[in-house]
Amino acid sequence: MGDMQDNMLPVIGLEIHVELATETKIFCRCANRFGDPPNTHTCPVCIGMPGAMPVMNQKAVEYSMKVGLALNCTVPNFTKWDRKSYYYPDLPKNYQISQYDLPLAIAGHLDIPLAGNKVKRIDITRAHLEEDAGKNVHDFPAHTGVDLNRAGIPLLEIVTEPDLRNVEEVMSFARSMHRLVRWLGVSHANMEMGQMRFEPNISLWVGDPEKVFDESAGYFTPIFEVKNLNSFRSLERTCQWVIDYHQAQIAEKGKAWSLADVGKQNWGFRDNLNACEFQRGKEEAHDYRYFPEPDLAPVVVDDAWRQKIRNELDEVGELPIARQRRYLTEWKLTEKEADALTQDIATSDLCDHSVEAGADPKRVVNLLLGRGAAIANERGCVIGKIGISDVQLPDLAKMLTKGEVNATAADKIFDIVVDSDALPAKIAESEGLLAVSDAGKITEWVDEAIAKNPQAVEDVHAGGKKQKKAFGFLTGQVMQLSRGAATPAEVQKLLQEKLGR
Ligand code: ADP
Ligand code: MG
Ligand code: ZN
Repeated sequence: MGDMQDNMLPVIGLEIHVELATETKIFCRCANRFGDPPNTHTCPVCIGMPGAMPVMNQKAVEYSMKVGLALNCTVPNFTKWDRKSYYYPDLPKNYQISQYDLPLAIAGHLDIPLAGNKVKRIDITRAHLEEDAGKNVHDFPAHTGVDLNRAGIPLLEIVTEPDLRNVEEVMSFARSMHRLVRWLGVSHANMEMGQMRFEPNISLWVGDPEKVFDESAGYFTPIFEVKNLNSFRSLERTCQWVIDYHQAQIAEKGKAWSLADVGKQNWGFRDNLNACEFQRGKEEAHDYRYFPEPDLAPVVVDDAWRQKIRNELDEVGELPIARQRRYLTEWKLTEKEADALTQDIATSDLCDHSVEAGADPKRVVNLLLGRGAAIANERGCVIGKIGISDVQLPDLAKMLTKGEVNATAADKIFDIVVDSDALPAKIAESEGLLAVSDAGKITEWVDEAIAKNPQAVEDVHAGGKKQKKAFGFLTGQVMQLSRGAATPAEVQKLLQEKLGR
């Protein structure tokens, strides 16, 4: 048993649902909008009245192609629509239009970043387009309502191969996908609004970890498919919970706890319990009875169309993971810094343009992750959108490098610049924040600080414990008299001279 436990390897595949940010729904002209009063964006098509005819939204297909190409998938020449039969209150049509055997994108990959500067390639099985279902509303005391505003919103489902081997890889993949679809501008991927949802398929491989899927070398525990997770936290919690659960089951049941014996199961995550619960097993599995959608023509993707999307993708430029790597290798940023600056395209572009304008990367990064991050946090926006431009930022960074302003003054200038079109150099001048390293000027402030603080001076002379603190205090006083403009090194040098140390 002990040996077996040592050889338990999580095997995880992800299905990710992404609502596309088109103006209108996928098969009708209703608005694709979250948060409006229930059932205000509905029509005979999206509520499934008999005889209503769907018309394909070309933008939804193009957004999906863009994601497919960004994931290094093949976008085939021919894809079609299929009906997937369901019977749910939030789907009054009793079927969902989806893609069964001929999806829009197949066989790609995404290279995800891992701790320690590592990268792992995760294969993408497919990405297909479908329509979202409505939403049951449980706000009423004695009944459940159905809001069909969501019904018919284009939903891209991306499916990975079972290549993920631990929670870290799952989370990196999920975050990378989140970043990618926002970067491409095809989804807001706001998880609180349900615009991105995860369904992990989780099992453990018990056996030779070098020979996963080789039946002579081991076996799988039952695959748990956990439905509809709408936060990173619940995804992380779910994966860890299921792995722990399977380990406990193996300890109790041994080889009887296997995929062959138990089959695949659907589970759900209960937020309030912080745990998963059983939904249904294989024997109750749905028969979706897929068949080709008779009301929609197949989608023919010719070379010209594919190339048009490829060109659009080229215009987006380098994608986030590639940028992250470049920041690590070329700019020598830490993983945390590189990650923070590639959260969104606006912030990353601001960095890149500032460095292209001749600023030192480290200076740019420190400014953005210092005052920049604080202001973004206050204003509830991304760092790239706080209002400092790719002309102002390099200007400020260069002043720092040249010693024309010190760090304290730079922060003050930064705070002014975000609400102004002026160049930092101008602001530094008008606000009197230019660094003063002129010894004469600083000596005046030093003399003033010494005259005003006899106790601190005494403490410095007395030596011992209080000395360091008193010296720091006096340095601070001089900096304050200079309104932050004095060069700290110069201040300390002159103070030391004056105090005879
Ligand atoms: P289904 O048709 O039941 O949804 P699929 O074969 O299409 O099953 O796979 C769905 C997901 O399950 C994919 O993300 C795939 O990577 C994952 N998967 C396949 N085999 C395993 C396994 N042994 N353990 C965990 N996940 C798996
Ligand atoms: Mg599935
Ligand atoms: Zn509609």
